[in-house]
Amino acid sequence: MKLLEGKTAIITGSARGIGRAIAVYFAQHGANVAGTDLVYDDNCRALEQELSSYGVKAKMYASDASDMAACEKLIDNVVADFGTIDILVNNAGITRDQLLMRMTEEQWDLVIKVNLKSVFTMTKAVQRIMLKQKSGSIINMSSVVGVGGNAGQANYAASKAGMIGFTKSIAKELGSRNIRCNAIAPGFIITEMTGQLPEDVVKGWYEKIPLRRGGQPEEVAKVALFLASDLASYVNGQVIGVCGGMQT
Ligand code: NAD
Repeated sequence: MKLLEGKTAIITGSARGIGRAIAVYFAQHGANVAGTDLVYDDNCRALEQELSSYGVKAKMYASDASDMAACEKLIDNVVADFGTIDILVNNAGITRDQLLMRMTEEQWDLVIKVNLKSVFTMTKAVQRIMLKQKSGSIINMSSVVGVGGNAGQANYAASKAGMIGFTKSIAKELGSRNIRCNAIAPGFIITEMTGQLPEDVVKGWYEKIPLRRGGQPEEVAKVALFLASDLASYVNGQVIGVCGGMQT
């Protein structure tokens, strides 16, 4: 029996990077996958094909995770297509790094909207489905900088710290309905997001990581699989680091 056999997962921002790796991992373990990203492009088409090759139902939707009305419409569409939603992964996220001195109001607002408001809009839209079926697993993609902060990332760190407060509150609010909510705090993971960083910055990060390397998206996906599955049936309201020991 596969770990997520018969379950349906919705994963935001899954056209690439960590979200994509989670979609693939979930499908390999039997989950039907509804993925989202800002646009439906060739990446989405290729992912749908790859996921379907594992014998599960897979569909990508173009939807802005930070737009309440879009999320409600998305959830209606996913329920119409898949019948139910058992797992929500709030993965969509962006950076707009800048020292506070130079950070604009737009950079602050956008990061808070995409990273933090999206967790509210998606969870609010999905909760009615999970409440009705009296089960669910919600996984929020936070970051080590949400726990420890980072110079030049005040907006991003604040959004990721906010996700942790949200996670712990929802764990307490929905736990009695058998809905679990946990956060993952990845460290330095090799994706297009970190691909924008200069080589010397990357080298600096690696020196701070006891395992002396960046993580692969699949290494985050493995923890998401654990949290999504019944292996984590008594894990609720936790923040799990996936950072090679960068933060202990
Ligand atoms: P990525 O930039 O490679 O992928 C993010 C995806 O989210 C993209 O496909 C993007 O189009 C999508 N997206 C952006 N805004 C969206 C929106 N409003 N609605 C729907 N989709 C949207 O990033 P990644 O490295 O794969 O990161 C995934 C998550 O993990 C993010 O939340 C990020 O903050 C978090 N994270 C990443 C790292 C890392 O080192 N890469 C570390 C800690 C946390």
